[in-house]
Amino acid sequence: MHAPVIGVLALQGAFAKHMEMLHALSIQAKEVRTPQDLQECDGLIIPGGESTTISKQMRYIHLEEPIREFAKKKPLFGTCAGLILMASEVDTGEITPFHLLDISVQRNAYGRQIESFEAEVDIFLGRPKQTFPAIFIRAPLIKSCGKQVEILSSFNHTPILVQQGRHLGATFHPELSHQTMIHRYFFKLVKDAASAKD
Ligand code: GLN
Repeated sequence: MHAPVIGVLALQGAFAKHMEMLHALSIQAKEVRTPQDLQECDGLIIPGGESTTISKQMRYIHLEEPIREFAKKKPLFGTCAGLILMASEVDTGEITPFHLLDISVQRNAYGRQIESFEAEVDIFLGRPKQTFPAIFIRAPLIKSCGKQVEILSSFNHTPILVQQGRHLGATFHPELSHQTMIHRYFFKLVKDAASAKD
């Protein structure tokens, strides 16, 4: 089996920080801008940024359908705007989300850029709980979750890190913290999915 490659959708937003973190973990990483780039990947991160812009750009360069197909077999990890794009319901008609996480989200629920904040949260990644410095930037709020959604972390009684099957989503920005445990966890999901295929 080849070393798994994680793609980072590089159309807009915080993709460079995800690339840096993957490189620091010696994980093969690839910026994804075309359907051809996607074909070389075993997993995909959709970064934070502006979900309406990322959505428009994906449509413009015909990446929506290839990502939908990709997600049928390979893991996706959405952070902030990325999580919004993976939801099943969004409080704005401007986005047609991918329905990969059975969650309903409200965009910008914590206010504007200036109201961004950091909080120590407990996360559960198949081990005893660990603490994580979660950075929220114009973060979305998960208003409801379907039964298949596992809640790996909550803040103020609201889910902030969720998993459904092979897909993962965070309302915060794990790539901006120095803790790498969430990226390592996603890498494991990618490795498991890649070896299940072989
Ligand atoms: N508020 C942004 C949106 O709705 C998301 C913010 C972020 O990704 N940091 O797309």
